Amino acid sequence: MRIAILSRGPELYSTRRLKEAGEARGHQVDIIDTLHCYMDITRSRPTVRYHGEELPYYDAVIPRLGASITFYGTAVVRQFEMMGTFCVNESVAISRSRDKLRSLQLLSRKDVGLPRTGFASKPDNIKDLIRNVGGAPVVIKLLEGTQGIGVVLAETNKAAESIVEAFMGLKANILVQEFIKEAGGADIRCLVVGGKVVAAMKRQGAEGEFRSNLHRGGSAKLVRLTKDERTTAVNAAKVMGLSVCGVDILQSKNGPVVMEVNSSPGLEGIETATNKDVAGMIYEFIEAKAKPNHTRTRGK
Ligand code: ADP
Ligand code: GLU
Repeated sequence: MRIAILSRGPELYSTRRLKEAGEARGHQVDIIDTLHCYMDITRSRPTVRYHGEELPYYDAVIPRLGASITFYGTAVVRQFEMMGTFCVNESVAISRSRDKLRSLQLLSRKDVGLPRTGFASKPDNIKDLIRNVGGAPVVIKLLEGTQGIGVVLAETNKAAESIVEAFMGLKANILVQEFIKEAGGADIRCLVVGGKVVAAMKRQGAEGEFRSNLHRGGSAKLVRLTKDERTTAVNAAKVMGLSVCGVDILQSKNGPVVMEVNSSPGLEGIETATNKDVAGMIYEFIEAKAKPNHTRTRGK
């Protein structure tokens, strides 16, 4: 098959691994810089242009969109969908997953474990907002944060109120969330491909850090999932409509709760921790599913 990886970084581990793994399976794999694509939106014949030429027809596209280019990146993915190309994750699902609030709202409608979360805009709701998720300690997060930046732990109700007021004063959108202390600064990253968890690792935050992000100095190791954790990850991926994703789960006293669903999960940490060929499994999925006009998106 002829397959395109949409990525801004040909030198990134995940991009390189995906190219190698695809070529090893006999596919022709091109790395296309998402931001350099431009679109010809024309009656009955939508195309994508690149470096002055029309791109050839690809059987499948693997989107690897960084959070900062979500708007443009999803427009490029959508254009490929309009051309009938099979996209591993659909543009609508990527957009949906990039919005933490929208994701939690969608997950809350189904029976997927979540931390109790509040969202508000008017300062006169602050006390109740905090009380409603169980009171301090609470976690307050910037809606637009990534890699653990903008995630703050407030140990007392007073501190929580001041932090909420400060963020609201800056007109930032924030979530107030029950603090899952039992997680002990660790989370579980489940890699879901085609409705199955194909690899999972436990990430432990650095000493004295409640955030487990690897970018914040955390470490990762192989973990065996409980049935409940596995089901939670699979259901979260399904609700989000993502075929390939990383589902981050915290182990709470009430069972697994979903933190976040990532539509461009990094492969380095998980492949190293688990010794699994996750990139190869993404191609197995593509080989089984990629048919022209198979994408469900119809411009919605
Ligand atoms: P980001 O998207 O920026 O990584 P997250 O919401 O995933 O932000 O939070 C970063 C990390 O902080 C999580 O992986 C988790 O380890 C920790 N964390 C976030 N929310 C909570 C919470 N409600 N309770 C306990 N730990 C949390
Ligand atoms: N970006 C993620 C972090 O900082 C981890 C990379 C991954 O998804 O493997 O935790």
